[in-house]
Amino acid sequence: MIKQIHFGILTAEEIREQSVVHVTEKKTFQDGAFLTNGLRDSRLKLAFGHIDLHTPVYHISFVNNIVQWLRCICYKCGSTLVKNEPTNIQKNKWLQYMAKHAQNKCPECHEKQPKYSWNKDKAQIEKSKVLYDIDDVQTHLCQLDESFLSKVDMSHPKHMILRCLPIPPTSVRPAIMQGGVIRGEDDLTYRLIQIMRSNDKVQKTIIDKRPEHIIHSAKESLQNAVTGYINHAKVGGKRKVSKREYTSLTARLKTKEGRIRGNLMGKRVDFTSRSVITGDDTLGMHEIGIPISVAKKLTVPLKVTAYNKSIIQDWLTKKDSTIKFVIRPNGSRVDLSFVNRTNIDVDVGWSVERELMDGDIVLFNRQPSLHKMSIMAHEVKILPYSTFRMNLSCTTPYNADCKYSYFFLSYSNRN
Ligand SMILES: [Zn+2]
Repeated sequence: MIKQIHFGILTAEEIREQSVVHVTEKKTFQDGAFLTNGLRDSRLKLAFGHIDLHTPVYHISFVNNIVQWLRCICYKCGSTLVKNEPTNIQKNKWLQYMAKHAQNKCPECHEKQPKYSWNKDKAQIEKSKVLYDIDDVQTHLCQLDESFLSKVDMSHPKHMILRCLPIPPTSVRPAIMQGGVIRGEDDLTYRLIQIMRSNDKVQKTIIDKRPEHIIHSAKESLQNAVTGYINHAKVGGKRKVSKREYTSLTARLKTKEGRIRGNLMGKRVDFTSRSVITGDDTLGMHEIGIPISVAKKLTVPLKVTAYNKSIIQDWLTKKDSTIKFVIRPNGSRVDLSFVNRTNIDVDVGWSVERELMDGDIVLFNRQPSLHKMSIMAHEVKILPYSTFRMNLSCTTPYNADCKYSYFFLSYSNRN
């Protein structure tokens, strides 16, 4: 029985422990085969791997949180700078509240606290307008007591700085195939290759004991590569804008076409149709014009009763019959486009599905459905052409212009 779900940040140790491949090869292929320990290692089909970064890097989506945490912790002695912890506050607002109410002077060591901010162009945190080295930020955050965090049930902010980058399975970033041959890699894979190149360069400059500014610029390019992989909109500095920028993880989730709004929030149901609306002054306010093509597709289920049995039997055997399916009491469906309909005798307890016809009552809806008049019942009138037609007096309650509109069918009980 699941009682609750807790979201937290994976630590570098946890990533290494759960990883199946330590990715060290920058290439995906060699001699026509997937390279072991490469980005297409066969073990990466379903599980994830990892890269060890040679310098710590900010996780760009956590940068605001890191700055807020810094404001809450005394840089000298590590004690928390908030006297009264808030009660009755939403958990996602908690850190923001703490950072806002942090004291200027440490209550323990009476040290005056500096100001912290994020410098987008340099991709670094600044402490009183001076660059605050990421290693110092890490030691600063590490001073925070774990017992304080367990009280508020949060992950330790030191894990917001990446030392180990998880590599998603290949099913998340499939190669571009053409005629069964791999023609290219997914954007994320190219991003990961960039990260690995920058990572190697950092290691090389350190081993070769290159001058400080060269090491620094290598680290900066690694930071930008990781930021670009997570969210390319957050990469600062003067970048060369290439012809086509690779996508990033955040871009997959955001926007109308993204995973959340595009794939998860959209709800499609049966017995509906969607088209453009246009006005029609020959229709009454209670009517709705439905294209013939739609009326032939949408069906209305009817229960066969003692009262309508003979009518339905007539409909069924008629030459231009509108009945498309017959459902027996045991639930078996007969598609009448494959069966000789004259051999079927319906009985009480059976059901049939017929095409939409004039006089059926349907629900008509235009999103956003902001009030109850966004979904109203109308009487069907089947008309030529392909748009839904309505009396112009109905546009106000639907707040309709001539853009897309939804149309839901509800069962008619007339028959
Ligand atoms: Zn202090």
